[in-house]
Amino acid sequence: MTITTPSPYGQSQAETKPKLSQLCEHCHSRKAQIKRPKNLQKICKECFYEVFETEIHNTITNANLFHPGEKVAVGASGGKDSTVLAYIMKLLNERYNYGLEIVLLSIDEGIIGYRDDSLATVKRNQVQYDLPLEIVSYRDLYDWTMDEIVACAGIRNSCTYCGVFRRQALDRGAMKLGISHVVTGHNADDMAETVLMNLLRGDVARLEKSTAIMTESKGSPVKRSKPFKYSYQKEIVLYAHYKKLDYFSTECSYAPEAFRGTARELMKNLEAIRPSCILDIIHSGENLVLKPKKQRTQFRKNAKAGSKVPTEMEVRSDGSVSLTSAGFVDGNTCEKCGYLSSNKICKACMLLEGLEANRAKLRLEGDQSFVGAAKLTRTLENLSF
Ligand code: SF4
Ligand SMILES: [Zn+2]
Ligand SMILES: [Zn+2]
Repeated sequence: MTITTPSPYGQSQAETKPKLSQLCEHCHSRKAQIKRPKNLQKICKECFYEVFETEIHNTITNANLFHPGEKVAVGASGGKDSTVLAYIMKLLNERYNYGLEIVLLSIDEGIIGYRDDSLATVKRNQVQYDLPLEIVSYRDLYDWTMDEIVACAGIRNSCTYCGVFRRQALDRGAMKLGISHVVTGHNADDMAETVLMNLLRGDVARLEKSTAIMTESKGSPVKRSKPFKYSYQKEIVLYAHYKKLDYFSTECSYAPEAFRGTARELMKNLEAIRPSCILDIIHSGENLVLKPKKQRTQFRKNAKAGSKVPTEMEVRSDGSVSLTSAGFVDGNTCEKCGYLSSNKICKACMLLEGLEANRAKLRLEGDQSFVGAAKLTRTLENLSF
């Protein structure tokens, strides 16, 4: 008799009485059900859970990520990575007695049709995992939503604005809770992509930091770490699927920046030929030895005459935005918002200044006009003539 079971990739898998060659290559007793994307090893579901969880535990202990009694916020978006992270953090904390106090911390960027739905998932996770939840919104912190920002500044740089605001919002949310450590669901694929992007751009300063498992900045009291640094995205999806975790799978309506999308495609093609290439790229990044002070100092001025974009901001040829470290002052606080910043003016305030200058140009007829404008911008930018 043949039993058909669904696969997370939408294919079907026929189960018959196991032959020796179909036994799990790990326990050699149960039937192999999964081919591990990381090393193509054929293993059973139980062994997959065990190796996946143990590898993350080893990553955490090898890097000494936590100490007993520490309060840790899990950056929770409702997506697969952060949902699995919240689940695994709770599981490992209990299994290995890390002694952590875990809280879910979510950011509401104000993206209708995406973040509102994904936050509903986080609220369910809060109940399922019995963890406290704190939500901070761009509206409350900056008086802008991402829908409004896209309507004002266009979709091309949406992820740059969103990234700068999210970083500060996570810090502010964590500080509100008295927490100085945020863990995020960035996985091995994300990290390898970032290494590739920085390599291809020649962005040496970022390349140097792109494989760090923990990042601390003088401009922020909150450190961040990535327990999934060596976890493959495909394995996170498999784990979420087999464990039947409740996560939100829709992509953000504002596609990731074009260059990251290209690096992602490149990574996926490389992975199809050689699955280890994700870990190999991270390994290469970790072992790069850079010449001291070999940092790019030439930043192009914004060529657009009359642009309201602050002068410290560089718009690259691929459309992405970079903020320089002009006016660096160690341990400074932002002159505008008073929030800790390594510059005189924090990056969020620099971006807000440019946005505010353009706000007057928009017809402010309530939130709906912004949503409409965001959609129109996206439609126009996707059209090719
Ligand atoms: S894809 Fe870009 S705009 Fe959307 S949530 Fe992520 S960073 Fe923000
Ligand atoms: Zn097994
Ligand atoms: Zn500021």
